[in-house]
Amino acid sequence: MVKIRLSRKRFPQNQAQLDLGLRRPTENDRNFHLGGRSFYFFDFDDNVAYLTTPIVIFNKDTGAEKTLSSGEWARYHHEIGQTGAFENYYVDYNDETGSFRYFRDQKHSFIDRMVGRKQTFLSDIEKALNQADYSWKAPSWNTFFHATYNNRPTSVITARGHHKITIKQGIDLLVKTGHLPHNPNYLSIYPVTNPDVRASELEDPELKSSVADLKRAAIRNSVEKALELYGDNPHHRFGMSDDDPKNVELITEEMKCLKKKYPEMAFYVIQTFEDSFVKTEVLETKTKTKEKGQKKDLPEQLDLL
Ligand SMILES: [Mg+2]
Repeated sequence: MVKIRLSRKRFPQNQAQLDLGLRRPTENDRNFHLGGRSFYFFDFDDNVAYLTTPIVIFNKDTGAEKTLSSGEWARYHHEIGQTGAFENYYVDYNDETGSFRYFRDQKHSFIDRMVGRKQTFLSDIEKALNQADYSWKAPSWNTFFHATYNNRPTSVITARGHHKITIKQGIDLLVKTGHLPHNPNYLSIYPVTNPDVRASELEDPELKSSVADLKRAAIRNSVEKALELYGDNPHHRFGMSDDDPKNVELITEEMKCLKKKYPEMAFYVIQTFEDSFVKTEVLETKTKTKEKGQKKDLPEQLDLL
């Protein structure tokens, strides 16, 4: 008797979307008939995916380390050293030993490379992929999928400080495991705390700007790059999603400046929460809430970008 060994194929939950996609034509950008494109800018952590990369803070008296999740960081970072449960802690900005060391590429020795040690962004994505989809797919995941599937010009604007190639390799793991149909049509990648990116692209040679300010600069650059590559068309639409309230505040300020410069184009900010979102249109001097909804509504709503 001949035994046929069937290989077990891994079917990620997004396989359903991929299968659907095979039968579904890609959709044009909303203003495509007018020559406009829809540009999608994404914060990564807790917006596209939940990863377990810890942030380390230090006790002021003993130097003891305490780890925070990026979600806890987004909620409490303004209280560290100031008030509340984290009053007696401080943040250390040293790239190799400090609070964000796991959000930077580490210099790997020959031995490290021999034993296959990976940058934390890659190992944390691998760890996430071993979990159920619902545990790592964050509120903007479906929008990220939609933007990728339809080849929307996409920017990843993250507080991480890895090399751009590491970010691309991490997202490529999502493609290799079938969660995305192909790589995004990258407009730009900004790991805004990467020292080279800060100095050479974000006008921060002394490494003094805050993450929110660096994200502002990254958005400004990405819009300029969009116009260079896709032409200066009044029907372009830009949307950025982020879960950190401070970032959302400054992203909105930057978009107000962009709206002044390009009054006919449309600018949106999408603040994501664990189970819901708020989409705001940014006008020159004010903002207008366009949609509020639950996480499950996000893909449909953001098709409109
Ligand atoms: Mg985030």
